[in-house]
Amino acid sequence: MALVKFKIDGEELEAEEGKTILQAAHENGIDIPTLCDHAALLPFGGCRMCVVQAGPGALKPACATPIAPNMNVITDSSEIREARMMVLQLLFGERNHYCMYCESTGQCELQDLGYKLGLDHFEFFPYEKRFPEDVTHPYILVDQNRCILCRRCVRACADLGGHWVLGVKNRGYQSLIDIDMDAPFNNSSCTSCGLCVQVCPTGTLVDKRASYLGRKDQAEMILSRCDRCPVGCGLEVYRRSNYILKIYGDWNCPTNGGVTCRLGRYAPLYDERPRLTTPKLKESGVWTPTSAEKAAQWMAGKLDAEHPAGGCLAVVEGSLSNEDLAALKRLFGERVFSLQDVIPPLPATAKLQDLADADTYLVVGVDLNREYGTVGSLIKRRTIPGAAKLVLVDDGFNSLAATTDFVFTMKDLDGALVEARKGRKTVLIYSRLPETVAEPLRSESQFTPTNRKYGDSPGAPQFLTLFLPYESNTLGLAQAGIGPGVWPSKSALERLPSSEAGSEGTVFFVGENLRDLKSRVRGATLVALTPFETDEVKAADLIVPIPAVFESEGSFVSMNGELLRKERILEPGEGVRSVSAWVALIEAQRLQSVVAKGK
Ligand code: SF4
Ligand code: SF4
Ligand code: SF4
Repeated sequence: MALVKFKIDGEELEAEEGKTILQAAHENGIDIPTLCDHAALLPFGGCRMCVVQAGPGALKPACATPIAPNMNVITDSSEIREARMMVLQLLFGERNHYCMYCESTGQCELQDLGYKLGLDHFEFFPYEKRFPEDVTHPYILVDQNRCILCRRCVRACADLGGHWVLGVKNRGYQSLIDIDMDAPFNNSSCTSCGLCVQVCPTGTLVDKRASYLGRKDQAEMILSRCDRCPVGCGLEVYRRSNYILKIYGDWNCPTNGGVTCRLGRYAPLYDERPRLTTPKLKESGVWTPTSAEKAAQWMAGKLDAEHPAGGCLAVVEGSLSNEDLAALKRLFGERVFSLQDVIPPLPATAKLQDLADADTYLVVGVDLNREYGTVGSLIKRRTIPGAAKLVLVDDGFNSLAATTDFVFTMKDLDGALVEARKGRKTVLIYSRLPETVAEPLRSESQFTPTNRKYGDSPGAPQFLTLFLPYESNTLGLAQAGIGPGVWPSKSALERLPSSEAGSEGTVFFVGENLRDLKSRVRGATLVALTPFETDEVKAADLIVPIPAVFESEGSFVSMNGELLRKERILEPGEGVRSVSAWVALIEAQRLQSVVAKGK
């Protein structure tokens, strides 16, 4: 890219051709006030807060004016200050900005500019009309009385999230942010990704959970990775005391570039399942709290020294960290199983980055909006404006169906493949594949209709496959050699040797979403290591508390095969221990019992 020479406030500078004045100024550490501009969004030029003098004629918006050779930019003069102050006066006068009553006070870009530019009175009496609020959304509050119509929310929802939920209705001072052409927020196509809240510079779009509990600058921001799905979005987690105020997508994370989804941003903060904080052992059919040492002793007894790990097996969820999996492998050896398949049914040939320039997405049997929101965003922001084609194959309800004309059932896979073959670069995206479509897709991923290998010559069409693993660390399970094996068929249970007393052995279930334990294993003693004391684990003979999301750190392997690290954000209750810590306690108990027997 050619470099352009220009001046800002008399200083000679260089920047790449095509950059705006604002970008060039920021790159050189020069401050120009902005409101509607956002680094993650395309320039909009709406609010005129960033006006500068650049060449002859009227003041120009720095955010939407490209630099030109020998341009002489002035960022501060009485004319510029007057223009900016007028913008501020109009914005403050147009709606209700009595900061004292606003949730965003102290963290509002409009308020900050008021202070910075010296706003000390209202030139225009604030407009007294009451504008609507919408409190129907489970996570987000909308107060149009604070809106400055910068349209950051509209642009983020469409251009970053690919959701296209928000717009602007009415004209002039009556303009309002519109949700799905006048739908209540909770009855709209909103996916609860929260991007609009993240970019709103004022107190218009507010995270309900964070309201009045503290400002961003009162919280500590911790960069972490989301372990709610295998995408592994980068997160900014704001913690105040031992409480999470809010979660934002990390703008600088190459995986998601600030985008995230309901599962990462909101779902964990609204998890109301009863928390387990102390081990409980069933006695005469009733759970009774017990100490960590007794619980560990009880578990060690099951793993008795005469049959190391004999009579026991562990069944784990793919949300466990690599460190916890390693500890369980140490304890159970080869007797660790997963509940899900860990090996992709088709060779995985695509990475997330391949979505950026594909022209066709063949999505089979997965609702990306609901299960893998960031992947959904990555493709919808290209398919909805027509930059790429979505071919959807699903037998059930799929919220993406409303966004494409190419919707097929599994039976019509051939029709879907006809459309997919028209692509120059087609990416098949799937999670679980019924056998009926796995085989034709396997062969499709290897050959073109003319029986020529995809991509084997320059310009040949490509057909890549992107596997969406079921759980955040499914690939970590695979790397640790943990798979379903023959689980949950009877032969897996046959690995449980019956003791002389006739017991059927012990199954340790480990994870946060354990379900139907008894129906999975009949006749065995059951242990559940889990953060929650739900009805789903009531069949267990012993329940043992482990950390909930955000209460433990560790590494996991993303769907791209990268080793990611999530940080511990919250301190768990005193009785809660990580899986690795429980394993260490069990090992200590077993050692003690060996020593005692040796005496
Ligand atoms: S949105 Fe900002 S400027 Fe308006 S009332 Fe709230 S804090 Fe004040
Ligand atoms: S939460 Fe996401 S999908 Fe919903 S309106 Fe905001 S940006 Fe759009
Ligand atoms: S809701 Fe917020 S982001 Fe959207 S236009 Fe209003 S002030 Fe801007």
